[in-house]
Amino acid sequence: MTVRTIDVRERVMAKNDKLAAGVRSLLQQHGVLALNLVSSPGAGKTALLERTLDELDDRIQMAVITGDVQTQNDAERLAKRTDKLVQAVVTGGACHLDARQVKTALERIDLASTELLFIENVGNLVCPASWDLGEQAKLVVFSVTEGEDKPLKYPKMFQEARYVVLNKIDLLPHVPFDVEKARQYALEVNPDLQIFLTSALTGEGMIDWYRFLGSAVAENSAE
Ligand code: MG
Ligand code: ZN
Repeated sequence: MTVRTIDVRERVMAKNDKLAAGVRSLLQQHGVLALNLVSSPGAGKTALLERTLDELDDRIQMAVITGDVQTQNDAERLAKRTDKLVQAVVTGGACHLDARQVKTALERIDLASTELLFIENVGNLVCPASWDLGEQAKLVVFSVTEGEDKPLKYPKMFQEARYVVLNKIDLLPHVPFDVEKARQYALEVNPDLQIFLTSALTGEGMIDWYRFLGSAVAENSAE
């Protein structure tokens, strides 16, 4: 029985990887840069996107796919910030998005007028690490209300990611969080990580994040 279970899982993952490859080439065809945002619940993915949509909506053509286990609340929050369609995926209990859901969501998004696609994954640092969605890069949102050792506890997620947004830095005076330690742990697990420090609430640090998005989009469309 054990062997059989592993077989099924491998088949499911192989099917997902194939769908993800299709999503990736579709996005490439249209010159869309896609970032897969992962985090623990409550790290501030939606808040980061709200502020980013507010700030960059007239400069970068952005679209959002947002996954939630049970509600469309995040999608509704984000839809207030942009004229573009925010595609909600209610996973009905599943703790991660998969490539099939993203592929279906993309059918409703006008890729010809999209430069940057945010995929807000379900809040979970475990299995989203294993599910390729066809994104260009995974980005971990990690907040200063969590432990500095998150990268050590969830190494696979930080290894799979290319970027970390360390969010809620406005709370640093009130929490015992050591930014340098967190940075050290993250780089220990993955020395190639690029790390941003932000507060989606106050806007502190967001300018570097916006600059990064601007140049990443420009670079992607030049390719
Ligand atoms: Mg959210
Ligand atoms: Zn899962």
